[in-house]
Amino acid sequence: MNYHILTLFPEMVLDGLNTSILKRAIDSGVISVNAINIRDYSTDKHKKVDDYPYGGGAGMLMQAQPVFDAYEDLINKISMDDSSKRARVLYMSPQGRRFDQGFAEELAKEDELVFLCGHYEGIDQRVIDEIVTDEVSLGDFVLTGGELPAMVMIDCISRLIPGVLGSDESADDESFSDGLLEYPQYTRPEVWHDKKVPDVLLSGNHKEIAIWRTGASLENTKNKRPELYDIAINELEQFKTDNPKKFKKARTLAEDYLRMLETKNTDDEEQAE
Ligand code: SAH
Repeated sequence: MNYHILTLFPEMVLDGLNTSILKRAIDSGVISVNAINIRDYSTDKHKKVDDYPYGGGAGMLMQAQPVFDAYEDLINKISMDDSSKRARVLYMSPQGRRFDQGFAEELAKEDELVFLCGHYEGIDQRVIDEIVTDEVSLGDFVLTGGELPAMVMIDCISRLIPGVLGSDESADDESFSDGLLEYPQYTRPEVWHDKKVPDVLLSGNHKEIAIWRTGASLENTKNKRPELYDIAINELEQFKTDNPKKFKKARTLAEDYLRMLETKNTDDEEQAE
């Protein structure tokens, strides 16, 4: 995966990404990070990149010219496997589609991604209309620039690229990868501040451990994110109805899931009585 970031602050992005797991991935060539300074493309003699918004209002707006020229120079250098295709250009924007794990999985399939980072009050709409394929938001809040969102997205997408995480850092088991939050985890020592690690995790019985984890995931999700819990349960029931054979055959999380649910429902009923 090659990331290209159009920004006024290339050092911020490069410094931020060149640490720990991502640094290892960059060094081994699994991912590359290329930051392009939009200011280098300004045709203004003082290298100005922003100006006042027409119609008035607070703050400055990034001008179309340097953004477009930086983009054009970049896109001409990116060679796509399918030459009729152009790299996706993601504009970091509070007005965009909300970034989430599913969106990260979609983007991880690309070979080249271009991130466009705004600053100040944003960017002249005309160049956004011309070059951007996706507007992406990190959430319903406003930041000073698109650099942090681009870094967050690159971090998240990279974890999904084979070879970025070591075998003992797998991304499969994690919160959201199956629509549920992760179960609680414990490491040495067995007892800490009088708190003991759940017995089942010390049992060495992999099947029991898997069932316990599914149950704990369900409970965690139900308590912390009930709306995700409802979605997961509905999807599961749907899968069971649509695909009863596959559902039965697969030794999947789904199976444990339903077993846990059945036990839980019985427990709840008993409690209610
Ligand atoms: N005036 C703009 C906000 C500008 S904030 C508006 O109201 O829509 C300056 C820049 O920060 C934006 O151009 C964008 O690149 C980035 N940014 C701010 N909040 C963001 C968010 N929640 N997600 C992604 N990018 C964001």
